[in-house]
Amino acid sequence: MNATDRLTELFMRFPGIGPKQARRFVYYLLREHSHYKEQLIKALEELKSTGKQCEKCYRYFGDKSFNSDMKMCDICADENRDLGTFMIVEKELDLDAVEKTGSYNGLYFILGGVIPPLTEKPSELIRIRELTSRIHKEIELNTLKEIIFALPVTDYGDTTKEYVEKTINQIVGIKDIKISHLARGLSSGLELEYVDRDTFKSALERRD
Ligand SMILES: [Zn+2]
Repeated sequence: MNATDRLTELFMRFPGIGPKQARRFVYYLLREHSHYKEQLIKALEELKSTGKQCEKCYRYFGDKSFNSDMKMCDICADENRDLGTFMIVEKELDLDAVEKTGSYNGLYFILGGVIPPLTEKPSELIRIRELTSRIHKEIELNTLKEIIFALPVTDYGDTTKEYVEKTINQIVGIKDIKISHLARGLSSGLELEYVDRDTFKSALERRD
């Protein structure tokens, strides 16, 4: 396989990218002068060596300032945040969107996906074991006060929420922790990824 076909295949693995778009990217790269390509190669190499996953919230991020002793991202390591609250989101982009609103000061947990209705082995599609282990640990340390669900308002999001809630409700000691959900109704089917500041703030304030 030549480089053009190989690159097309690699681009097709990107979320939402089909064969035509992948081909378009390759032609774009062929046209671009070598300086751009060098920058791209350099950035990819840097991402390869500095890209990390936080051991607490499981978010992937590329950051030179990552503290490898703590193995945590800057948000989880920030003592000025409300360490007793964490928000369950589907993906990194949701976390980025919430951070951009500047209206939330707690921590996060990235579930890494959502579950389609009627899935037989839901535990293989999301980080449920990692989530329960974090909750167990925090209950032991007596640090956890609230878990906020911020999953998509879709069939997949609802299936996931039901499964996760059922699972964590079986954890001993969870009864003393508040479980809440971002308020709905502002816009059904709303994706957190595209939420604006006021909508998010209101959904957070009216959580129940
Ligand atoms: Zn983190």
